[in-house]
Amino acid sequence: MIVKSVQEMKGAIFTSLRDREIVTIFPTEIARRYWINRFVMEEREGVVRLDSTLAWDAFKGKFLPKQSEIPANNLIRELFVLQFLRDEAACRPLKWFWYRDYPEERENLASAIRLLISSLKELENVENLPGDYRHDAELIKGHYTQFLQERGLYDPLFLAPSLENFSETQQRYRLFFPEVCRGWCEFSQMENFPPFLETVTVEEGERPSLELFSNELMEVREKLNTIKNLVEEGIDYSEIVISAGDLERVKPYLEHEATLRGIPLTVVKGDSPLHYGPGKFFSRLANLYTSNFSPKAMRSLLLEQQIGWKEYSRHTALLEKGIEYNVTRGAIPDSSDEWIWKLGAAKENELLEWYKTLKRGVIALMRASNMGSLFRALFALQDFLLLPEGFAPQGEINHNVYLFIIDLFTAVGESLKLCQMGEVENLFQFLLKYVGKQNYIENRPIVGVAVYDYKVAVGIAPPYHFLIGCDQRATEIRGLPLPLLHESYMEIDDEESESDIFLNHYHYSGERVVFSSSKLLFGGESTLVPIWFTGRVTDASYKPSKDLLVREERRWAGSKEIVFTPYQHQKRWLERASKSAFTLPIYDLAIKRGFFPLWERAVGKEGLLHLSATQIDTYNDCPFKWLSNYLFKIRKGNYDTLSIDHLRVGQLLHSIIATFFTKIETFDYSKSDTYIELIEEIALKEFEEYRKMPYSSPDTTLLYLKRRHSDELKVFIEKEGKDFDLYSSYGLELTLEEVNRKEGYHLLGRIDRVATKDGLVAVIDYKKGVAPTKGKNTEIVSSFQLPVYAKLIESQGELEEVDRAAFYSFSNGRYSFYWKEKDRECRDDLVAILDQKIHAMIQDLKVGAIGATPSQEACSLCDYRQVCRRRFALP
Ligand code: SF4
Repeated sequence: MIVKSVQEMKGAIFTSLRDREIVTIFPTEIARRYWINRFVMEEREGVVRLDSTLAWDAFKGKFLPKQSEIPANNLIRELFVLQFLRDEAACRPLKWFWYRDYPEERENLASAIRLLISSLKELENVENLPGDYRHDAELIKGHYTQFLQERGLYDPLFLAPSLENFSETQQRYRLFFPEVCRGWCEFSQMENFPPFLETVTVEEGERPSLELFSNELMEVREKLNTIKNLVEEGIDYSEIVISAGDLERVKPYLEHEATLRGIPLTVVKGDSPLHYGPGKFFSRLANLYTSNFSPKAMRSLLLEQQIGWKEYSRHTALLEKGIEYNVTRGAIPDSSDEWIWKLGAAKENELLEWYKTLKRGVIALMRASNMGSLFRALFALQDFLLLPEGFAPQGEINHNVYLFIIDLFTAVGESLKLCQMGEVENLFQFLLKYVGKQNYIENRPIVGVAVYDYKVAVGIAPPYHFLIGCDQRATEIRGLPLPLLHESYMEIDDEESESDIFLNHYHYSGERVVFSSSKLLFGGESTLVPIWFTGRVTDASYKPSKDLLVREERRWAGSKEIVFTPYQHQKRWLERASKSAFTLPIYDLAIKRGFFPLWERAVGKEGLLHLSATQIDTYNDCPFKWLSNYLFKIRKGNYDTLSIDHLRVGQLLHSIIATFFTKIETFDYSKSDTYIELIEEIALKEFEEYRKMPYSSPDTTLLYLKRRHSDELKVFIEKEGKDFDLYSSYGLELTLEEVNRKEGYHLLGRIDRVATKDGLVAVIDYKKGVAPTKGKNTEIVSSFQLPVYAKLIESQGELEEVDRAAFYSFSNGRYSFYWKEKDRECRDDLVAILDQKIHAMIQDLKVGAIGATPSQEACSLCDYRQVCRRRFALP
């Protein structure tokens, strides 16, 4: 029977379902459920007998010979491949499935050989196979057959259907859409075609057109807007279906855009168990081992929220210590594991023991070579890490997935026994790979628009069916691809038409069917249009102006002429935002207005404002930045380990310089060779001390730092000779303070070096990186550090005034002077400006008028961007 329209199709299926004498067969399980559901909802009888419908695979299975042996499945095929690839002698004759130059990589051929075994039957029809390929296929088939025979197994893939094997004679069967049933060709060519089987096919009708969009985002948006309009016209979500050419790829975009429009979607597709909490737990345990207990792998396991941890606070404590001590890598041997020696050096004994137990457990799991020892290691780790209830507190779905995975592990154990494989190297890795290939299908009802993968939705016919992403690659239907072979070998005459048959069938897969595709995919890949549509391609366009989301944006931008009625969820968003993000803070201290005095909060017990050069510079950059840091004490947390802790390396350099000047007292450039030796010796000792600290950098980084700073220190000796020859150190790391009760501040400074020569006084500050430079005039001052030091020295009275002041930058290898003996006027100006700054700051605090002063320099590395809510000046 041939149906010529969707109405005829529906009529034929309903008639068949009503007929108690007939078993109705659908091409897929999805189609079977779809039609039963529709029949039940739309028909007066509203019932279907459980045994009156079948999916094609189940029906076809009735024609296969019954065997006394046990059937092989994918798992057994995988185990065969595993064993075969580890048998050096068996693999050696391979010619095609062999990495000639990298024989040690042969285990990477596992999936290709697995695929080849599944395609062995189809291979018989390929005529022009390369000789080496055919040789290997026969060799592998021989080994596989022997493997099965020795274990009393058989592979159903090699069996051919036959009417003789069919034992149920009393029934009549009606198969809908045989043209899209996998294996129909072989079935229809059986010697005796079953006389009790009727078929219903769809007519090859006039071809529809394909809407072609410029890119995939436009396509997705336009289709969702159309759906939204349909719903607003009264169409129920359940009447609409989307089938996507490549659902895996388009899914996140589709879900995102649907959420923006408030369209509920249910993606009808299984997912790998490894994407759920228990799967993540197992795979991340393995990842700990393969990544040598790296901080990243530790974080990814121990911070996972879908797992019911027994002692989560211990995880965060361990990871925080890892950051504090700059643990950059772990290792399998304890001797080179930074976690172990750094936690040990810092005497974090409890955390150390906890980490060691975790590590022992993971190593035992990864080295288990049989199911007994694997389960023991696994359950011991679960006891150690998880709550007694396991994954149950994380939701029913996680608990079910956990049971599903354990069942899969058990099935592997059974298959290992069946295959007489007692010991398997890297068993846990093998299990995870196997689990990763399985699909866990959540048993949940479809809510909203159902979304299917193109290849599985065949056979359904909802009122509205949108087939998106119908490019040539996505709509291509082939038999199993032959691994490691160019596709030209697989081109059998009627294969193209199999893709066409599917497209023709999809033409009848709904009362209103729309095919669409796009020229560019997400990610920029371009596509081809399926040949089937050639000549019937219309350039479709997405009209942003009609999209409510775009129109809303324009309205916000002040476009008066745009009138639109927002979606319900847009109204909801606005309502929520107007109570939160859109509300102006009552006291916005980033506005210089003077909401309330801050002076009382800013001063210490003795009523003085404690100031330092860094504080003054921060206030000068942006008062709000100072307020956040020094008054509110908001600090950014550190979430990453640093292989170079710049702050500590800077302190190390300062320490080297201080020791050097203490030893030599007066710098005499004529002794530069001895100085170089001395400073290198000091540096070596300091680095050695640093290396013993739990927070030190890894050895390779330390080696790099030593080399780099050794060169910098040599340059330093030279520059010192040029600018400060014969200067003696008056003070190193000299702490000075000034108390000004009249103004109300206490100024504190720690000067790297104060040096004197013939009555001249110099202050120097050493910078590991780039040093601040003086602006062209005293109005543009980027740092008040040196004027602060000059002010402090003058206030002490002993040295009177500072004649020269400079920063030394190790990375640039030069001094930059703020003033020298001849620019004393500049110094006086800078100190006067500093006094004004301090005065203004105190006045601001007294009235509470702080405010933010955004600028490219101030904002570019500022940690308070989210707090001040100003427009940031970005470079
Ligand atoms: S981001 Fe800019 S404006 Fe905001 S606090 Fe930081 S420096 Fe000030």
